[in-house]
Amino acid sequence: MTGYAGRSEPVDVVVVGLGGLGSATAWQLARRSVSVVGLEKFDLGHLRGASHDTSRILRRSYHTPAYVRLAGEAYDDWADLERASGQRLVTVTGGVDLFPPGAAIPADDYAASMVAGGVPFEQLDAAGVGRRWPALRVPDGTVGLQQDDTAIVPAGRSTATMARLAGEAGAELHDRSPVTSLVPEDDGTVTVLVGGTGGAAGRSFRARRVVLTADAWTNELLAHLGTSLPLTVTREQVTYFAPADPTAFGPQRLPVWIWMDDPSFYGFPTYAEGGNGALVKAAQDCGGAVTTGDERSFDPDPDALGLLSSFAAQLLPGLGAPARTVTCLYTLTPDRDFVAGPLPAYPSVLVGLGAGHGFKFAPTFGRVLADLALDGGTSSDIAAFAVDRPALAEAGHPVSWLV
Ligand SMILES: Cc1cc2nc3c(=O)[nH]c(=O)nc-3n(C[C@H](O)[C@H](O)[C@H](O)COP(=O)(O)OP(=O)(O)OC[C@H]3O[C@@H](n4cnc5c(N)ncnc54)[C@H](O)[C@@H]3O)c2cc1C
Repeated sequence: MTGYAGRSEPVDVVVVGLGGLGSATAWQLARRSVSVVGLEKFDLGHLRGASHDTSRILRRSYHTPAYVRLAGEAYDDWADLERASGQRLVTVTGGVDLFPPGAAIPADDYAASMVAGGVPFEQLDAAGVGRRWPALRVPDGTVGLQQDDTAIVPAGRSTATMARLAGEAGAELHDRSPVTSLVPEDDGTVTVLVGGTGGAAGRSFRARRVVLTADAWTNELLAHLGTSLPLTVTREQVTYFAPADPTAFGPQRLPVWIWMDDPSFYGFPTYAEGGNGALVKAAQDCGGAVTTGDERSFDPDPDALGLLSSFAAQLLPGLGAPARTVTCLYTLTPDRDFVAGPLPAYPSVLVGLGAGHGFKFAPTFGRVLADLALDGGTSSDIAAFAVDRPALAEAGHPVSWLV
């Protein structure tokens, strides 16, 4: 017993971290009429983690059938969120996955996974890509897998919307309230101690379940339980380019695109969210330096910007000069698969982590983590995301981040 137990406030579930995944989880729990306390270390909507800025890709095209199936559920969960919030959040633009000759990422994995998942797509050659998407200039021999449902979702606004819905459904959310300790109790509950200057500062909660959705800070919290996961935090960046003629990069001429090679890049057509309607966003996937949640800098990496700019200038002639660069954090597992499930040693503690590609699944993570917290299981196939899978349990497991 901690000695705090006597003064701890009993609660069904404490959610630690209110980015996209945590806000979704708090909402999904509160709408099931259980008591929920959501705790955020910084201000809600802060720019230090992974769920801020304007846009994130939502797509059905993925490299395994399990992800393709889960992506299908994600579209349903986004539709549910749109209904519940009365907001339009999903902007369908279409998307093309681009595989140059000798691509590091196999096109067959994507094609076969979409076939297995019954997801319609069109295979295009280089000329076909250019005819379909005039803004794109790809080298001969490139294969394009075109999928019409690919869409853009607003990161910051969606996260704020889910937090609002959580509060409206009865969740008690506190920002500037960092969890400073997690203490497992003999009866299976967990005592959660809170610091900071926010509404939960100095309080402690006795929770039946704790959901950790703390991304780059996950291991800091797991340390309280004497455990950790082999996670790598990288500081990624996205750049907004200012073309002379933004209409040449509108959704009629440019889809969401992903360059499936090493290095890997991705980008968006013009997208009005956040007043960026005349700017075109592009970025490298997994190009950032290793860092930590608290030590990361916010200064753009000039070398990474140079690499991106020269690549993008070839793929998107007329793209123009960089106007703005935003940094953001990835928290990567060795196999780049998500984490969703209980800790084997502390089944009352659940971990949810998006491995640098989780925002499109934020409402789905929320539903799944709420299922696991309340029912101990979920209808979604999350077998590949287990906390004790070999990639997370074996020391020195080979790293494969390009998917
Ligand atoms: C540049 C970039 C582009 C991306 N593009 C895409 C994309 O196109 N599509 C896609 O699906 N995904 C994309 N992702 C990935 C996606 O954004 C993340 O997987 C997702 O946002 C992770 O959300 P989260 O809530 O887990 O993390 P975060 O938003 O980082 O939330 C974790 C929260 O935990 C809080 N916290 C930490 N420690 C404590 C503590 N002790 N007490 C209380 N709170 C604490 C932090 O302050 C933080 O707010 C991208 C990510 C980046 C960085």
